Amino acid sequence: MEGVSLRLPSPLVELDDERIARHGLRLFLKRDDLINPEIPGNKWRKLKYNIAVAKAAGVSTLLTFGGAYSNHIRATAAVGHYYGFQTIGVIRGEEHLPLNESLAYASSRGMSLVYLDRTTYRRKTSPEVTTKLLERFGDCYLIPEGGSNSAAARGCVELTGEIDVPFDVLCCACGTGGTLAGISAGLNPGQRALGFAALKGDFLAADVVRLQRDSFGEPLGNWSINTEFHFGGFAKRTAALDTFIQDFGRRHGVTLEWVYVAKMMYGIYALADRGFFPPGSRIVAVVTG
Ligand SMILES: *Cc1c(COP(=O)(O)O)cnc(C)c1O
Repeated sequence: MEGVSLRLPSPLVELDDERIARHGLRLFLKRDDLINPEIPGNKWRKLKYNIAVAKAAGVSTLLTFGGAYSNHIRATAAVGHYYGFQTIGVIRGEEHLPLNESLAYASSRGMSLVYLDRTTYRRKTSPEVTTKLLERFGDCYLIPEGGSNSAAARGCVELTGEIDVPFDVLCCACGTGGTLAGISAGLNPGQRALGFAALKGDFLAADVVRLQRDSFGEPLGNWSINTEFHFGGFAKRTAALDTFIQDFGRRHGVTLEWVYVAKMMYGIYALADRGFFPPGSRIVAVVTG
């Protein structure tokens, strides 16, 4: 595909950390955050086959959904810019001017922004709402909120094939669960995937099951989701999380993205301290952004 330069396979680095080693564990970071500065992490993997399907269908406009701070909205705008698609971002809530940094970026990459009030936004997948959007914007390729559909899950499967060390557990942060659904499908027998929910609520596992059924014919039994480390909910943070991020940055020179990645990493360290991972386990943590 033409487009932008992508660092693939993304780097895999082992962390030298006594807090992991003392439990007899090894921890590797899969640095998907380094794939491309404008299309970080799992967002490229999730969009890759979506744009291929859209192109094959001859559709030149991508339409997708998200909140005002959505990384998926930003990434869709960037992908549209580099791969020759018009993009429309349907944003939850009212317009606030000046645009925040995320939406200003999306707009600078040519994305048209439209706003749906919260009540209508909640019904965004209903036929009334999608029909209205298609009437207004013409033929569009619709990508769901967060980008999680079958094409996205297939793109995430490829992450596992890039890991060239033996490992036992593959960890990722979960927003919509699309990344977890995909990576778990790429595992070998005996390996497991562990998702860390970045938001409150119990709906994620059901969403992953549904997505795996749609994408791979059946849900897989090799994953689970930990819901203990959301730190108050989506985009909420606490002093303990901030301290962890500072400490991690000092030790490893990596600034953890706080909405998703830091919560997963905190969870991995906490579970390691609790003896959750059997000694000898090799853990790969996906740095999704
Ligand atoms: C979008 C995003 C996620 C969540 O991915 P899902 O597939 O929606 O679960 C995780 N980490 C980062 C950095 C993200 O931007």
